[in-house]
Amino acid sequence: MRQVLIRTAIVALAMGCGSAAAQDIGTVNPKPLPPIANPDDPKLPARELFGRKPKPAPLAVRSIGYYTNGCLAGAVALPINGETWQVMRLSRNRNWGHPNLVKFLERLAAKAPKIGWRGLLVGDMAQPRGGPMLTGHWSHQVGLDADLWLTPMPDRELSREEREEMMATNVVAEDWNDVNPQIWSPAHIAILKAAAKDKEVERVLVNPAIKKALCRDVTGDRSWLHKIRPVFGHNYHFHVRISCPGDSPECKGQKGPPEDEGCGKDLDWWFTDEARKPKGGAPLPLKMSALPPACRQVLMAP
Ligand SMILES: [Zn+2]
Repeated sequence: MRQVLIRTAIVALAMGCGSAAAQDIGTVNPKPLPPIANPDDPKLPARELFGRKPKPAPLAVRSIGYYTNGCLAGAVALPINGETWQVMRLSRNRNWGHPNLVKFLERLAAKAPKIGWRGLLVGDMAQPRGGPMLTGHWSHQVGLDADLWLTPMPDRELSREEREEMMATNVVAEDWNDVNPQIWSPAHIAILKAAAKDKEVERVLVNPAIKKALCRDVTGDRSWLHKIRPVFGHNYHFHVRISCPGDSPECKGQKGPPEDEGCGKDLDWWFTDEARKPKGGAPLPLKMSALPPACRQVLMAP
């Protein structure tokens, strides 16, 4: 099992994926990170600073910057238990977001059981002050991104240990060319559709094999398929991105997804050798000077 996981992580990294993170195991007793000797060093990656803030900045709520370059003021937490959701990997302390994201998750969770998905297992949202993370993601920086497991919530409250150690379900076949027919189900389609059809949702990121399955399997209303975007990884969880909130003038939106379903040639490309060829290393970590200036206030707030 472990072997397979490690191999999967390596493949995902080689494919330039920023997040095999759903499968990182946590611990119920996380050790605090050692303090930084010189936090003012301009060469210090910003993730070292944002990754050490355990609480949100007590400032007016706003998302600042872009999904992959920004931070979050006045974040709120998604409660770790709801009627139809549970937060996973509590040790990561990443169940923070803009209130719009929290409201969206509560809305989707309420809908889930009505469409055959018992409830949501919620992976990473954002850190208490957003910003770059020490592990796992390039986005999730402004409190408008959330990872949801491709495993429905079990019919009971998970223990702390289970939330750290339980594995999400890989819905993609071993050759990465399609979904695993033993696992893929109408309920997976239903939850992806419910997420994509939400008015606040701009994009839902899934593995190309999942997009391919949706292109083939979705009947009737296909108006939401254009919001489902292929990206490597994302075979254990899907990633939901909501739009810039009205209260956040410094939030930089992303161009909306193309209007067409995205089931043609563009999708085929993801299955070519060219697409799968390992790309160069990960981008250099952002320094404070690369983030929007307001992120310094968010970081320094008491
Ligand atoms: Zn994500």
